[in-house]
Amino acid sequence: MIPVQFDYVAPTTLGEALTALSQHGDDAKIIAGGQSLLPVLRMRLNAPEMVIDLGKIEELRGIRDDGDAIVIGAMTPHAVVGSDPLVAEHAALIPKAIEHLADAQIRHRGTFGGALAHADPAGDLGAPVLALGATFVIAGPAGVRTVPADEFFVDLFETAINDDEILTEVRIPKHTGWGAHYEKFVRVAHQWPIVAVAATLQTNGGTISEARVGLTNMGSTPIRARGVEEALAGQPATADAVRTASERATEGTNPPSDLNGDAEYRRHLAGVLTRRAVLNAAGA
Ligand SMILES: Cc1cc2nc3c(=O)[nH]c(=O)nc-3n(C[C@H](O)[C@H](O)[C@H](O)COP(=O)(O)OP(=O)(O)OC[C@H]3O[C@@H](n4cnc5c(N)ncnc54)[C@H](O)[C@@H]3O)c2cc1C
Repeated sequence: MIPVQFDYVAPTTLGEALTALSQHGDDAKIIAGGQSLLPVLRMRLNAPEMVIDLGKIEELRGIRDDGDAIVIGAMTPHAVVGSDPLVAEHAALIPKAIEHLADAQIRHRGTFGGALAHADPAGDLGAPVLALGATFVIAGPAGVRTVPADEFFVDLFETAINDDEILTEVRIPKHTGWGAHYEKFVRVAHQWPIVAVAATLQTNGGTISEARVGLTNMGSTPIRARGVEEALAGQPATADAVRTASERATEGTNPPSDLNGDAEYRRHLAGVLTRRAVLNAAGA
């Protein structure tokens, strides 16, 4: 289908983009890589009168080292984030997840911020940024505010970003030297995850000192598997200890049922994939 007709602007600064957004209010929609928005427009699930393209705003792109955090600009394409040496060194979980995100074309067009702002519960980036305790930087008419990952994902396709705001960057605390693994379960290549688990952990002489685990598609938002994290702390990185801890993977989850699997099947997958992700992250 062809989208409903809309006007289009491509500002070159964040300030101009925010002005355009406030001028057009509910009638405007931001476009980043367009990989999720364009299908929505073509299906006429949304019909904005004005589309504001962030593609020419250089200040929203790039990756930088900022002391104890790595900062990823919202408009940085997945492919750039996934191959960046700073991200690999200090937040290895992110490239591990991007490896499994869609196909090469989508990874070159789709953006880090666009995927997180879209907040699809099956999106591959939500669980890793939640597990890593990221902070979201959001600009709006009242200035800039920061939102912790725990409060960013509100519900299905809903985040803490208001209609007149733009996500500008994501700050990821450094987890230098931590093991990391993203275990994604799909039936066919390049599919959205039926369930996936993001795990990153620190070991000391074969003992897990701290683990951070996020679940993809086990509820209407990404979920932190805090029961698993608690159960892993201080345990040896052995198959038995990790299996026992992984039994807590379904705590606080509310998985969907659809043609790919019912909720019970997803609960089963969460336990199995958590065990695999944690063991891989521990290098065991
Ligand atoms: C065939 C296909 C397969 C895919 N498979 C996967 C997959 O397996 N795993 C996965 O994680 N993703 C997958 N994706 C989605 C991909 O990750 C997209 O890149 C992502 O969902 C949207 O990013 P985008 O930059 O294209 O955003 P857009 O499509 O441009 O925008 C998405 C939404 O976010 C809003 N938005 C964008 N940027 C901002 C911002 N800076 N501030 C505020 N709001 C903003 C837009 O207004 C829009 O509502 C797939 C997409 C396609 C088409």
